[in-house]
Order: sequence, then structure tokens, then C-alpha cells
Amino acid sequence: MDCKRLKSQIYEYLDNELQEADMQQFSEHLGACAECQKAYEAIKRTWDALEVLPNVEPTPNYMSRFWAEVATRQNVVDRARARLSQMFLTWKLVPVYVSLCLAISVFAIRNYMQFEQSRQILAEMSQEEIEMVEYIELAENYELIDEIEFFEDFEIIQNLDDLSVTQS
Ligand SMILES: [Zn+2]
Repeated sequence: MDCKRLKSQIYEYLDNELQEADMQQFSEHLGACAECQKAYEAIKRTWDALEVLPNVEPTPNYMSRFWAEVATRQNVVDRARARLSQMFLTWKLVPVYVSLCLAISVFAIRNYMQFEQSRQILAEMSQEEIEMVEYIELAENYELIDEIEFFEDFEIIQNLDDLSVTQS
């Protein structure tokens, strides 16, 4: 018997399942080979330790519950796969994100440059020029106020008053 064959028969030997002749050859090789003896003793220690554990009787329907559990685990795997493919879908949107970021940065840079430009213009302006610009802004605001048809609205309010007078 060679080492490979002995190692493949260790569990059968421990379980007393070997044929008489095989059992004989196993014992002979074990007595002569230090390496196989080491492997056998390591496995036998584990084997003996398992003997200490009580035999567990499976509860009724254990097998069906076991396979049901396996099925739910399978669902988890399927769901994980589905989520991964969804992630792939969002990965496909990366060009969209990139162009959005680019657009935002271009917009921000342009705004900043415009701000810098007006700051420079203001710095170069004299005090009188700045005042003139402020007047122009005021005038523009006045135009906005002017657009509110104040007198027309006032007329409507007056008419309402007249109506309530005639009703009472
Ligand atoms: Zn050996």
C-alpha cells in the first residue's frame, strides 16, 4: 500500500469498514510510515473529538425546511444579481453625469469670469462714474414702478365703493 491509498482509506479504517486484507495492509503501512502515522493521528484526534458530541436527531420536516431555506438563500443570490445589473444600468449613465458636471463647471467658470470682469470695470471707474451707474439703476427701478398701473387700479377701487353705496 502506498501513502496516497492509505490517506484515501483513513475514514473507512476509522469506521471499521475496510475489508480484512485492506485493514491488514493499512496497519502494516501505518506502522512503517512516519508521515502517514502523523496524518492518521491528526485525523483520529478530530474523529475522537466528534465522538464526544451527542447524536442529533433531526426534528420532523427538517429536510423540507432545510430545502426551503436553501431556496430563500437562492432568492437572495438572485436579488443580489438583479441589483448588480441595476448598478450596471446606472454605470451606463456615467457619461450623463460627466457631461452634467462639465456643464456645471463651465457655467461656474463663466459666471466667475463675468464677476471678475465687472469687478475690474468697477475698479477702473471713477467715483462719479459709479454714481452715474447707480442713478441709471435707480431710474430703471423707477421705470418698473411706473409700469404698475396705479391710477387705473385706484379707479376700480373707487367704482367698487360706488357699487356698495348703490346696493345699500
Ligand atoms: Zn505512508
